[in-house]
Amino acid sequence: MTAVETVLGPVDDSELGHVLSHEHVLVSAGDDVHHYPWMYDMDATRARLVEELTEAREGGIGTVIDLTTPDLGRDVEFVAEVARRSGVHIVAGTGIWRDVPRSFWFRDPDAIADIFVREIEVGIGDTEIKAGAIKVANDAEGVTPEAELVLRGAARALKRTGCPISTHHWAPEEVGTRQVEIFAEEGAPMDRICIGHSADSTDVDYLESLLKAGAYLSMDRYPGSGERPNSVERSATVKALLDRGWAERIMLGHDYAPGVIRVGVAPPPREVPTRYLHVTTVALPALREMGVDEDTIEMMMREVPRRFLSGS
Ligand SMILES: [Zn+2]
Repeated sequence: MTAVETVLGPVDDSELGHVLSHEHVLVSAGDDVHHYPWMYDMDATRARLVEELTEAREGGIGTVIDLTTPDLGRDVEFVAEVARRSGVHIVAGTGIWRDVPRSFWFRDPDAIADIFVREIEVGIGDTEIKAGAIKVANDAEGVTPEAELVLRGAARALKRTGCPISTHHWAPEEVGTRQVEIFAEEGAPMDRICIGHSADSTDVDYLESLLKAGAYLSMDRYPGSGERPNSVERSATVKALLDRGWAERIMLGHDYAPGVIRVGVAPPPREVPTRYLHVTTVALPALREMGVDEDTIEMMMREVPRRFLSGS
């Protein structure tokens, strides 16, 4: 068995249980929580997160991959406290999201890789909490020149450490194709890479092209909103991929971003059950209804993410 790094230290990969492929714990668009602390009620935020993740654990979730980067307000000590109190294993991310900091624009990919490798091997900031995944992001704007440096840095950090990459991608424009191309140019092992937000597309041929390139898919953003596919449509896409034989390459998640509670602003009403359980309570029953068997569900919820995180 192999150890997987979590915010509370290494965990034997046989202990991960059901894993959500792409989520957030403490997240904000930017780093306001640290710069303008008077605006946020962190005690209330922590209590709410502990409550929701405790409910997730009681509902069958063992591990959450928290793909929150510095430009999304990452705070691994806060997350470690939430993990301790909820009992959910939380894997922290290194990497950069869509808002590539200006300081990164002028770093070459090897210098970017050095930063990610330190967070994987030594610790994040001055903590001993190590990253267990590398996050990169390319949205509707495609792969910008600055984001390309980050992708190449991530690929090199993966090659140096074996730490897997999990991407954010804009599926309607098939941005995953370019992500895969860059990783291939870098000679990164494709079986250590997951292309995320893939359930935003219902184009099974496009999704299969990413799988054929050797990557995993995170079929997340359940239950969907707005113009994007709804929960039923996401499950139908998952089923179509399963029918084509890709069970060993698919993981499920929500990309849930619970949000930080503001001082003087009533917190948004709590979803019941917590969004962290939508896959478990709605999507998996829908897939069973479509004829997906328990072995296949265990493959997507337990075995595939275990292989992805541990590399074994
Ligand atoms: Zn996300």
